[in-house]
Amino acid sequence: MPLTHRAGKLTIVALEDAAGPFFLPRAEAFPDATPEQWATADAADPAAVTSSGEWWLRFRSYAIRVADGPVTLVDAGIGPAGSLAADWAPVPGHLPAELAAAGIAPAEVTAIVLTHLHNDHVGWAVPHDSPFTGARVVVQQADVDVYKANRDQAGQYDVLIEPLLAQGRLQVLAGDAPVAEGVRVVATPGHTPGHQSVLAEDGDESLLVAGDLAVHMIQLLDPELAYASDMDPDQARATRRRVVGEAAARGMTLAVSHLGEAFRRL
Ligand SMILES: [Zn+2]
Repeated sequence: MPLTHRAGKLTIVALEDAAGPFFLPRAEAFPDATPEQWATADAADPAAVTSSGEWWLRFRSYAIRVADGPVTLVDAGIGPAGSLAADWAPVPGHLPAELAAAGIAPAEVTAIVLTHLHNDHVGWAVPHDSPFTGARVVVQQADVDVYKANRDQAGQYDVLIEPLLAQGRLQVLAGDAPVAEGVRVVATPGHTPGHQSVLAEDGDESLLVAGDLAVHMIQLLDPELAYASDMDPDQARATRRRVVGEAAARGMTLAVSHLGEAFRRL
């Protein structure tokens, strides 16, 4: 059974699509990190480093179920063999089997929120690969615009956005919006222009599924540390500082795609 966290009547399940090494030495991914910061981060999240010092990533989605009702899926993993992420990520992913192990049928997934459109987060939402044939897919306009403008370099617009538009299943947002009872999208731009997170909240209990707002423990410990793949490093840094600060003040749990640990209370 995949790891589960409760927030009141909301159940959040961590679904590991895959795990594998990062394609660069990790010092290149976080060029400003010091040896002391690496040591502290490794002690806090030991599952994210190999014995030879590589960054070992999880590629995680999270399912949020409201009581016994419908399920919102946050992110859709690296996808099957031949997916858009196949040139660097350890495809095939195992999300369908993880969902089954969690007792969730694909038809129960009524919405898929994509935190952003990088290819390791959209795999199982691509219509020709997707078991979620009835789910609406929730994205931000700013990310759609980026991939429409760059459709010659990246396949996301042609294989994901355009088919979903044709099927009437794409919900395009410009900022915060509710997705289900107690579940709302909040804009957290910087990693990509339209990066969004999902706040699951019931009474005093809350959890933020934060996508790639932070990608490694080292950025939760020091939100100032930039990640080489942030499209706008300054905006990403400002968003991280704000969100990590608020989460720490509230004692909120974060769920972060690539961390070794599926749930982290700040
Ligand atoms: Zn990612």
